[in-house]
Amino acid sequence: MHFKIDTDHKPLIPIFSKKSSDELSPRLQRIKLRMMKFSYTIVHIPGKELFTADALSRNPQKVPYKREKLEAGIDAIIQMITTSLPASSRRLDVLRAAQLKDETCQKLTDYVLKGWPSKKEVDTLCAPYWQNRYKISVQDGLLMRVCRIIIPKSHQAEVLNQIHEGHLVVARCRDRTRCSVFCPGISKVIEEKIKSCTACIKESSNRHQPLIPASFPGKF
Ligand SMILES: [Zn+2]
Repeated sequence: MHFKIDTDHKPLIPIFSKKSSDELSPRLQRIKLRMMKFSYTIVHIPGKELFTADALSRNPQKVPYKREKLEAGIDAIIQMITTSLPASSRRLDVLRAAQLKDETCQKLTDYVLKGWPSKKEVDTLCAPYWQNRYKISVQDGLLMRVCRIIIPKSHQAEVLNQIHEGHLVVARCRDRTRCSVFCPGISKVIEEKIKSCTACIKESSNRHQPLIPASFPGKF
């Protein structure tokens, strides 16, 4: 049966209507997956228009809800994500510690745990992350954007060097970041880095060998 969900929690609307699952953090993906067996339309009703309290939230004990089982499922997904990251556990510890010292990462973590403010109220450090807010989550103590670790400023140069290791071209470097690391504008940063890489510049000027035609055979 198709049904309608009325909610006063506006951020849920794009999550349950427009967004595709791979744009969401693992926790939200999991909720969206659980909702897929239902056919529904979700509508926002401002809090000021809700005159009576809803029965379910006033009496949660009446709703059969296996919290432990659900949490175990989520933890398994999170575990899978962190173990499939292309970084050693020692390296992940280093990044975890660096995120703890980074002001932007700390503010982002705060938003993830307590909820994002409106666009106007977002801290200027976190503003570049605004459009990714539904994708940012904390997994296993690591601040991530879907399945990519958010790299604190102190480690961005080092990580970029690793991404460009072997002097790969822009597209290959971007492929490398797609399942590993993230910082705002990373595609552009990679492009700029490669443009100014002396080894790559030298290589590209050597790459175009002049075409040397073979001489035509005289007679067969
Ligand atoms: Zn290079």
